[in-house]
Amino acid sequence: MAGKILGTTVYYDADCNLSKLEGKKITVLGYGSQGHAHALNLKENGMDVTIGLRGGSSSWKAAEEAGLTVKETAEAVKGADIVMVLIPDELQADVYAQDIAPNLKQGAYLAFAHGFNIHFKQITPPKDVDVFMIAPKAPGHTVRSEYKEGKGTPCLVAVYQDATGHAWDIALAYGAGIGGARAALLETTFKCETETDLFGEQAVLCGGVTELIKTGFEVLTEAGYEPVNAYFECLHEMKLIVDLIYEGGFQKMRHSISNTAEYGDYHAGPRVITADTKKAMEQILADIQSGKFADEFLADSKNGQKFLKEHREAAANHPIEPVGAELRNLMSWLK
Ligand code: NAD
Ligand code: MG
Repeated sequence: MAGKILGTTVYYDADCNLSKLEGKKITVLGYGSQGHAHALNLKENGMDVTIGLRGGSSSWKAAEEAGLTVKETAEAVKGADIVMVLIPDELQADVYAQDIAPNLKQGAYLAFAHGFNIHFKQITPPKDVDVFMIAPKAPGHTVRSEYKEGKGTPCLVAVYQDATGHAWDIALAYGAGIGGARAALLETTFKCETETDLFGEQAVLCGGVTELIKTGFEVLTEAGYEPVNAYFECLHEMKLIVDLIYEGGFQKMRHSISNTAEYGDYHAGPRVITADTKKAMEQILADIQSGKFADEFLADSKNGQKFLKEHREAAANHPIEPVGAELRNLMSWLK
């Protein structure tokens, strides 16, 4: 039954009434990582699912072959009771203005898997439309594979607008429909999900981790050590360590490593991540909260993704990449 974990309200299958989705036309826009998982899980739960895509989309055939009805975005929105928007965040506002808003029926439910466009007011739905979020805490492929194994992926759930008074019922039913309530649906807000999600990926998960690996690799190779050693010590072993942390926290990891490694860990860690690093993280958070990051990201997107593409290319040309390509060839389990 609905309970609390560390102050957060949590819902399980028993708290969700899947029958609230029965007779409702559900449209999932996009058939990428999240889209295919939501659509197929809902369909296998007996729901009426339509996929909305651009004409000529490369995903069209795959969705049809999976037995789904596919329509062009605007057509798929017409008459839908629930519209789940699973297209890239930077495209959502334009697609909303062109294809969704003009076709969204009164009293429909508009849903998202990330709060970005609602929280940063890129999309402002009419007052009579309910707005909710089901944000799985795993890539779409895990949402699908867990479901097929009879398990589920925990999801964040939030309601932004509740015009009908039924938004929570529908949000929880949708979360159960994709299998999320088998694990847990954890209550949050659009603001909290959006700001923490962006912070995590920037400061720690994507930005933080890659800079840490890259800088360590550079220090070793610039000091004359073999790239092979630098790659293994700074990149390859990252997963081994993170897996231990993921399974049992810092303690399990530190239990598994040598005393030498543990001593060095306490000794060196705070010299790498300093008070200045913490200040930089606080500034990153402030830029997310103020909307500065969102404005810059969307402006780059409108500018043909100049920043994104330049950095993608520079990163692909870093010396760590060919070293990795060579060494991963030796690891049969990666093939
Ligand atoms: P994706 O890039 O994997 O897939 C996007 C899909 O949208 C593709 O099928 C593409 O063909 C389609 N598309 C593009 N333009 C379209 C248009 N104009 N009309 C209709 N369809 C269009 O995207 P994703 O990673 O699944 O992300 C979707 C949403 O889910 C985002 O809001 C993202 O933040 C959120 N999310 C993603 C993950 C993840 O693991 N990838 C996790 C949680 C939340
Ligand atoms: Mg995230």
